[in-house]
Amino acid sequence: MGILVVGSVALDSVQTPYGKRDNILGGSATFASFSASFFNRVDLVAVVGKDFPPSAISLFRRKGIGIEGLERASGKTFRWKGKYEYDLNTAHTIYTHLNVFRHFKPIVPEGLRNSDYLFLANIDPELQMSVLKQVKRPKLVACDSMNFWISTKKSALVRILKHIDIILLNDAEARQFSGESNLFKAARAILGHGPSAVVIKKGEHGMLYFSRGAHFVAPAYLLETIYDPTGAGDTFAGGMMGYLSRCRKINEAQIRKSLIYGSIMASFAVEDFSVARLARLTRREIESRFRHYRAITRF
Ligand code: AMP
Repeated sequence: MGILVVGSVALDSVQTPYGKRDNILGGSATFASFSASFFNRVDLVAVVGKDFPPSAISLFRRKGIGIEGLERASGKTFRWKGKYEYDLNTAHTIYTHLNVFRHFKPIVPEGLRNSDYLFLANIDPELQMSVLKQVKRPKLVACDSMNFWISTKKSALVRILKHIDIILLNDAEARQFSGESNLFKAARAILGHGPSAVVIKKGEHGMLYFSRGAHFVAPAYLLETIYDPTGAGDTFAGGMMGYLSRCRKINEAQIRKSLIYGSIMASFAVEDFSVARLARLTRREIESRFRHYRAITRF
């Protein structure tokens, strides 16, 4: 069984110091599923509007991503506009238009309810919960969220945490969610809500992983050119889930390796706008960057 991904499929408008693009393919589920598709079969549950371009649908098909659960509803596709200053670590949201997501009732196709790996990419936590209720008994569930939902639907997010294995947040979101400025304390507070592990993403500074009794720290893959950081977090999660879904047994060593694969996948995503880099990425490039990462972090 492959990986089931629920989250946003969006048309993004993005401005970075290196360029500006309007209505490009984005969304948390888009980046996560593109990334995970390098490792395993991926199926998507999301919604788009009538304005969603057929060329974007073809991109999913070309990556072999299952879109049986991608509903096409009347109305407009989810839209997000963001801007990055020279500090590419912080996305400034200019608008979030939920559009078709406002009335979306996700339906997991019957044949996918037995999925072993579930990734609840960033979207309304109530929708994440509704998908969680429809799947039978996944081996591993990971969940991502963001400041928008922590501000508006924190109690729904707290409820989700009781039912998942791994939660991914960036450093600002972990602080916002926990009310703790120290990330060690923030992670401990989040673990207190139920998940067995917390991943705190720190953009170009890498990531921190905390489980009960253990933690792991890894830098990001150093790049000279970053065009657009949008989707880095979702791509990270897709790589992590993708790698874990291939492991016979998930232990601490495999989890660490999955986090490095997540970092490697994210490093590719930021090299171009939208999913352009992921669309032309090869498995060979992933393995070569993985080996290079190992070489530059060994001491
Ligand atoms: P990331 O840069 O990994 O945090 O994710 C960026 C993606 O998240 C963009 O492609 C957006 O379309 C999507 N996004 C932004 N805001 C939201 C939101 N409130 N809910 C779901 N997805 C969102």
